[in-house]
Amino acid sequence: MTTPERYLQHVLPTYGRFPLVPVRGAGARLWDETGKSYLDFCMGIAVCSLGHCHPRLVEAIRHQTGELMHVSNLYQSPLQAELAEEINVHHVRLPGKVFFSNSGAEANDGLIKSARRFGLKRPAADGSQRYEVVTFLQSFHGRTLGAMSATAQKKIHEGFDPLLPGFRYLPFNDIAALENAVRPETAAILLEPVQGEGGVITATPEFLRAVAALCKKHDLLLFFDEVQAGFGRCGDAMAWRVIAPEIEPDGISWAKGMGGGVPIGSFWLSDRAVDPGGTALSSLLGPGSHGSTYGGNPLVCAASLAVLREIREQDLEANATRQEAHIREIIGSWKLPIVTEIRGKGLLLGIGLDPALIPTPEGKTPALVIVNQLMAIGLLVPPAGPNTFRLLPPLNVTTAEVDEALAIIKGVLEGYCH
Ligand SMILES: *Cc1c(COP(=O)(O)O)cnc(C)c1O
Repeated sequence: MTTPERYLQHVLPTYGRFPLVPVRGAGARLWDETGKSYLDFCMGIAVCSLGHCHPRLVEAIRHQTGELMHVSNLYQSPLQAELAEEINVHHVRLPGKVFFSNSGAEANDGLIKSARRFGLKRPAADGSQRYEVVTFLQSFHGRTLGAMSATAQKKIHEGFDPLLPGFRYLPFNDIAALENAVRPETAAILLEPVQGEGGVITATPEFLRAVAALCKKHDLLLFFDEVQAGFGRCGDAMAWRVIAPEIEPDGISWAKGMGGGVPIGSFWLSDRAVDPGGTALSSLLGPGSHGSTYGGNPLVCAASLAVLREIREQDLEANATRQEAHIREIIGSWKLPIVTEIRGKGLLLGIGLDPALIPTPEGKTPALVIVNQLMAIGLLVPPAGPNTFRLLPPLNVTTAEVDEALAIIKGVLEGYCH
């Protein structure tokens, strides 16, 4: 039986999968089972921050599997504590505390639960618990019942009613819509500083600042979902800092790039006081209030420490910023009418396509047509919405690799511009 045949027979058909069967990777390259090689600018959707099988990450995992892979959160893991310190001291650089989950959706569920605890501590004027979390159209927060309900996309909700109550959706980057956005039950606002799955849409500095001001004014928690954008991807350790660096969020969620390929997620809560008695926000989830069996085990923490230290020590954020400038300059110089815009920050970039120039068969989107064509000639990129494909190379990508990818893209896109 071939791999696609085994899938058909044994794996739930929840993903629309390409026929590609990758079996080996090194750096920015991936090989399929026939031995064909690809330049990988998908990177497991922004997961493999250091590229495939980076020696430092491989060695950290090898070493830790021989020491200790898992202990219960009943006990204390030096690696979990070290990773939390690394995140707080070197990446967030604000006083706070982290919880380790196994995915981005779980991290967001943690933030949603935190908002409810906060709403209990700081109730509405009539004494009732606040619980509502405001999120934004085109957002993506994950697929658990909680994270899916926070996600403001119809196609994600389809057939799964009733959703978890306590969410309201507003248009993104619309400052006027923020007025009247707050109700007595509202407790928090959650947003992606750079929306990823929804099409690579960057929050404007004005919008981010207006949201932060609204949170201050109405005693709401400000949460950033940096699951895709965080840890160097956007050109700074934290994505919001490339947009409005002075903002101090109350909570942050991460996953994808922080593990470089091992399943780890996390959320962070600020130490700031939430009442006159000085109760820290980060103290509201006390013993017994939240948990995860695997969360932050020694194996994934050793891996994540290697990834975050490599990003920091090699200043890969700066490389992301440099490569972004290079990519924007080169694509801009093509002056191809099919490219409507380049959106995003750092190495979370979306190339917007003019759908009118791309003949599209039934059931496909213009982005998928292009993505398939690029794959056929050796470049992997993920779509983002119907008319955009993403560039998500590893954070240590070289200019030569970027130029190779851009040459492939140019060749394909030129074919639509005669
Ligand atoms: C991928 C993603 C998630 C969900 O992460 P999972 O690990 O798939 O649960 C949440 N938020 C954002 C912004 C994402 O890109």
